[in-house]
Amino acid sequence: MSLTKRDQKHLWHPLTQHKMTPEHLGIVKANGVYLQDEEGKKYIDAISSWYTAVYGHCHPYMVQKVTAQVQTLDQIVFAGFTHPAAVNMSEKLMEILPDNQQKIFFSDNGSTTVDIALKMSLQYHFNQGKKKLKIVAFKNAFHGDTFGAMSVSGLDVYNGPFSDVVLSVDRIAVPTDENCHQVLADFKKLLATNQVACFVFEPLVQGANCMHMHQAKHLDALIALAQKYDTVCIADEVMTGFGKTGTYFASDQLENKPDIMCLSKALTGGMIPMGLTTCTQKIYDAFYANEIAKGFFHGHTYSANPIACAAVIASVDLLKSEEIQTGIKRIQKGHQAFLKSIKPYTKVKKARTLGVILAIDLDVAIDRYGKDRNAIFNHFMSKGIFLRPLGNTLYVVPPYVIKQKELAFIYDEIKEYIHLIS
Ligand SMILES: *Cc1c(COP(=O)(O)O)cnc(C)c1O
Repeated sequence: MSLTKRDQKHLWHPLTQHKMTPEHLGIVKANGVYLQDEEGKKYIDAISSWYTAVYGHCHPYMVQKVTAQVQTLDQIVFAGFTHPAAVNMSEKLMEILPDNQQKIFFSDNGSTTVDIALKMSLQYHFNQGKKKLKIVAFKNAFHGDTFGAMSVSGLDVYNGPFSDVVLSVDRIAVPTDENCHQVLADFKKLLATNQVACFVFEPLVQGANCMHMHQAKHLDALIALAQKYDTVCIADEVMTGFGKTGTYFASDQLENKPDIMCLSKALTGGMIPMGLTTCTQKIYDAFYANEIAKGFFHGHTYSANPIACAAVIASVDLLKSEEIQTGIKRIQKGHQAFLKSIKPYTKVKKARTLGVILAIDLDVAIDRYGKDRNAIFNHFMSKGIFLRPLGNTLYVVPPYVIKQKELAFIYDEIKEYIHLIS
């Protein structure tokens, strides 16, 4: 029996209406940019498996580092103990994080990094005897699926059944050249209450919101204002981190650095789950006291799992390497040229790129989930390309090791598809 059939007996897939999408393709192997299914057919992973496997799948250097760790120390309680992989990882990360980030707190996925950031912000004020309980987030944000992260997310598809029980959150629009003054004014009104504990945002690109992009200067203005009111600024770099926007982090393109950063996804190059919430010395110092209760009483069993730490170390080494930096630049150039080349296409409503992220809004009405969306997915799979369209938005975030001819193949097939629907 095929994996696809056996799968249906016991497994429940994420973001899936099983009655309408009962079948899931079995992937048995991955190497570099290629995924391989049960029948041996290969697919280019054009979205780096949800922006995780950015160094390509099973990168030999990642495999080597992780294997060595597996054979040395697998797991240890991080409350009360420390270990070389965690310490080495912290030193390694400091080489690439913005200078103001000084402390690292562990969890094991992107959503929890955001939950932790929210709790850290609230307790930061609480510990100083201040009553700041409001949370501000962007409209149409996505920060994950646990309760805290879901609360600050603003995409209704995910929150519908829970909208009456989530945390209350104030929203401001994502700034543009047109609305930036209004957004600043709206934000100032909220901040002036002196009750805003934190402002959480996806810097420069809202991934799940169809790769909606905004300019650094507009976000900079919002951060500057928030920091004037001692409102904690949380950059959710779960998607944008580790080279996606062309720099190590999207925050590198900001003048005003966030107080807290959330990292996951490409953090381990897709090899092992891991989440990090990093913060400034100032945030940490608000927890440092002679009272036990002022400490941060949050902890996950797999905090600082040594194998995951080893994957992070390998990931940072690769990110800094010439091989990977050259790859990022090649993809950037490719995306920019491709954007120019599709300008004349009438079925392209809007297209944009930043770093290795390319997004194309097609001029067709398609729901985020459903038959039409699945048809596009299936079309590209039949061509040997794994893409996950977000409604009418096609996006590409290829592994940095992708070759020019593989990139060209993706571009050609996207053009081919646009012709098909024209
Ligand atoms: C994916 C994502 C998350 C959630 O991460 P999970 O590991 O899926 O929980 C949070 N924020 C952003 C910006 C993301 O892209």
